[in-house]
Amino acid sequence: MRFEVFDGRRLATREQLADVELAFLSVDYMGASSNPAANPALASFLDALANAPRLRWLQVCSAGVDRPEFQQLMARAVQITTSTGANARAVAHTALAAALAFAREVPLWVEAKAAHKWMPRRGIDSPRDFDGSRAVVVGLGQIGREIARLCRAFGMHVTGVRRQSAPIAECDEIVSLDQLALALPRTDWLFLACPLTEQTRGLVDGAMLDRLPVHVRVINVARGSVVVEADLARALREGTIAGAYSDVFSVEPLPADSPLWDAPNFLLSAHSAGLSQGFEARTGAIFLHNLERWVRREPLCNPAI
Ligand code: NAD
Repeated sequence: MRFEVFDGRRLATREQLADVELAFLSVDYMGASSNPAANPALASFLDALANAPRLRWLQVCSAGVDRPEFQQLMARAVQITTSTGANARAVAHTALAAALAFAREVPLWVEAKAAHKWMPRRGIDSPRDFDGSRAVVVGLGQIGREIARLCRAFGMHVTGVRRQSAPIAECDEIVSLDQLALALPRTDWLFLACPLTEQTRGLVDGAMLDRLPVHVRVINVARGSVVVEADLARALREGTIAGAYSDVFSVEPLPADSPLWDAPNFLLSAHSAGLSQGFEARTGAIFLHNLERWVRREPLCNPAI
């Protein structure tokens, strides 16, 4: 077997990958940006793979395979395996960090410090209790389950949303996507951790946001297009929801004219919820594990479906 490494300084060409049978898209390669328009090395690699007639397997460092380039490869029977789980805990920790920041009003501390202002003690209008509140977690893969587990550890009641109705240990109850609307009026925290599919695209729209109570916070670590961003920005502006956090956007980087930049009570990060020092090593270990299986002609782990 012959291996070739592209480290981002040398762009992959169609000629170089003409004979390639398997490829690994590493964290390092995605490093500069996961948007090919802003990352020439990634763009050239994806283009070369799209035109590699012998390609049979692509291991990716992401958990989702919703990018059109990956979907096109799958349509021509290239097997894609993911790095699901490699950053699940980091993503879940980020989701909880955002929820706790809202719950304990961290943005107000930051504002008050910047203004050199000692915040007056509050009475009846103190923040709502985090424990005892109700969380709904959409998508119960590795990230969703870890979010659910942490929410339970904080004393929350957790409703999980998944396609199968079987109970899971991390949730108090399970509902289907069709039953989600019924759970919304009792939701204090709506966590989105599902893949972007035809079923979840635009799931959180104006109609859904209208069903949520005014004190709800929406936490999105899934994909930007799971939410109708214009509807979210409107709900924040009109105060029909109390806050939202998103790590992911339908267009990344978030365009300068997005209404979300100035939306009140909105926290955002730049698709970085899963970044941590151990991420690269964990994705590398998943690739090596699968490579052994590939050599032994065994079924690969983490197949994208
Ligand atoms: P996973 O493969 O472990 O789990 C995905 C889960 O979602 C599965 O249990 C699947 O059955 C479920 N699911 C699929 N369609 C659904 C639907 N229509 N409704 C409800 N549930 C559905 O993946 P994961 O590691 O938990 O990641 C989930 C998603 O989070 C990824 O697909 C990706 O889009 C996103 N993600 C974001 C970041 C980030 O940096 N913000 C990092 C990793 C993953």
